[in-house]
Amino acid sequence: MSPDLLFPDGSVTRLLFNTPFSSLDSLLPDHPLVFITDRTISRLYPHLFPPSRTIVLPPGDAHKDLSSVKKLYKALLDMGADRSTFLVGVGGGSVTDLTGFAGATFHRGVSFGFVPTTLLASVDAAIGGKNGYNVGQIKNCVGTVRQPDFILWDFSFFSTLPEREWISGFAEIIKHAAISSPPYLHLLEEHTPGIFRKDTALLNRLISDSVRVKADLVMKDQNEKGVRKLLNFGHTFGHAMERAYKLTHGEAVSLGMVFAAHLSEKYSSLPREDALRLEDLLKRYRLPTARVLKPDLVYKTLVHDKKKRGDFIDVVLLKALGQAALYPLSLNGIRKDLYDLCRHRP
Ligand code: NAD
Ligand code: ZN
Repeated sequence: MSPDLLFPDGSVTRLLFNTPFSSLDSLLPDHPLVFITDRTISRLYPHLFPPSRTIVLPPGDAHKDLSSVKKLYKALLDMGADRSTFLVGVGGGSVTDLTGFAGATFHRGVSFGFVPTTLLASVDAAIGGKNGYNVGQIKNCVGTVRQPDFILWDFSFFSTLPEREWISGFAEIIKHAAISSPPYLHLLEEHTPGIFRKDTALLNRLISDSVRVKADLVMKDQNEKGVRKLLNFGHTFGHAMERAYKLTHGEAVSLGMVFAAHLSEKYSSLPREDALRLEDLLKRYRLPTARVLKPDLVYKTLVHDKKKRGDFIDVVLLKALGQAALYPLSLNGIRKDLYDLCRHRP
């Protein structure tokens, strides 16, 4: 297994698992570096960021917008950044998405790398090259696909990550396990979220295996024309619930996976015991599997999904744990299924 990721467009991403942040200096000795981070990280880790070479953004997805992009460009110009400047995004997915977008567009493209500081960014947002920002309510409305030169994971950042953010990251990890391989499911079934926080070797295995699942699909299909779509498992309904209710992304994806598993039993012959096994795993990681939902509200947000084609929507379903495929389902049918699920599993 190569430690690097090689993409169809010829770009290469170096993977530096469990590597101290301080090794950045020796990694990039010939480049003027600019760090991009957010206010939370810069306050928690002030010693890591020289003020003259650091751009601090407001934290969170709510600030992943055009005004942050403008702020970034202006700060880069004020610092005298040019085509040789190397950007290092240090933070969660909001920071890595904005860093990647600035990297892809500033002076028509400069090199960049990521240091993900949340579990979600470590296994998902930092991998695969999608970047961008939100416009109003439309998430990731503007963006490009461009791969980072490296991703460096320094697990010591997780010591300050709030528990709810830690748990949220496991939804994407369980998603990767559900669409890829039973051995990876075993690793999760044998442990708990608390153990991964304490045992660095185990955490390294968890993150590197999860990264590999996403990266393998992206390397086959960088621009999401085919197999990359499988990464949307649980997301069609998850996004609708995330918009309709105040949930973390991980909580919404967890509920979305339970609903997708329910549809999989009906439309793609997922054995009942596989659906229950997935649900048990989500519970083990303290993710929600049931909630009082208003089916009309979820349906209303669902019909605005980008993946809708006329009266149909492409949904990722499971044939078995480890075997995912895309199914076009009618919106009318989904509406009935939503009612059914909400009535029987409040
Ligand atoms: P985030 O970057 O919004 O961070 C969440 C919060 O945690 C912020 O307040 C942040 O300051 C704080 N934080 C980050 N690291 C911390 C640490 N070590 N200690 C204490 N606090 C810390 O959130 P996220 O959940 O990592 O990412 C969500 C974003 O990622 C969304 O904008 C989403 O659209 C994007 N995303 C992108 C992709 C992709 O493929 N590009 C995939 C998934 C998600
Ligand atoms: Zn997600």
